[in-house]
Amino acid sequence: MMGVTPGREKSHIHRVGLDMAIAELNRVVLPDLVVVDATVGMEGNAVDGTPVPMGLLLAGRDPVATDAVCARIIGLSETETKHITHAAELGLGTRDLRRIRIDGPPLRDVARPFEKPWRKLSDLKTLGAECGFDVDAEGACSPCIGCVLMSITALKNRGQLGVLKGIKTVAIGPNARVPPDTSGYLLVGNCLQGFEGAPNHLAGCPPNAHSFFEKLNEMGGDIDFARMRPSKALDPGKP
Ligand code: SF4
Repeated sequence: MMGVTPGREKSHIHRVGLDMAIAELNRVVLPDLVVVDATVGMEGNAVDGTPVPMGLLLAGRDPVATDAVCARIIGLSETETKHITHAAELGLGTRDLRRIRIDGPPLRDVARPFEKPWRKLSDLKTLGAECGFDVDAEGACSPCIGCVLMSITALKNRGQLGVLKGIKTVAIGPNARVPPDTSGYLLVGNCLQGFEGAPNHLAGCPPNAHSFFEKLNEMGGDIDFARMRPSKALDPGKP
């Protein structure tokens, strides 16, 4: 559904709250048919998770029911995913699996619980305390938080934390309180657009790990990209 939104509206949707925005989009453009390509899924973190061959193709006329079935297949309850809950409460469809007719194999035969994303703000704050920087990211989206969290963990796992020297605060998201003098700050994401072009601003909505490392090198770091490969190694696993 994000495909129906033009240009900058996509980042606006992240700022106002992705879960409710996805549900609300369906009020404006209710799909006639939802097709889910689940031949290969991805578990773990969004940026560099682990591909999981599923061999499934799903289709349904009720977008809420279709997502609820998909959620159950990967081990989430239909009440655990907020956009499904919001959409059901808006009356856009049913998430009650007892009321959904499923043609095809029983869910228990195709279900495969996925590892959940690891990108909580509390994890980033803990990592920041360990590495010597503060985190100002209340209200930031999980992909931005996940990018910073995974990238810094990858640096840590490779003994390259020295490149963070001089960074006292990592600011992310629309609510970050950034002072006029941003020395000592790493400013992450397009939400902080007022700082576009600043040497310590990392653009992206969200940025990715590669651009994160490039930015640190622009700021004087000496990250050896050869040591950061393969990209799958960026996934640090759970702490
Ligand atoms: S820059 Fe990051 S926090 Fe801001 S809208 Fe994009 S993903 Fe969300």
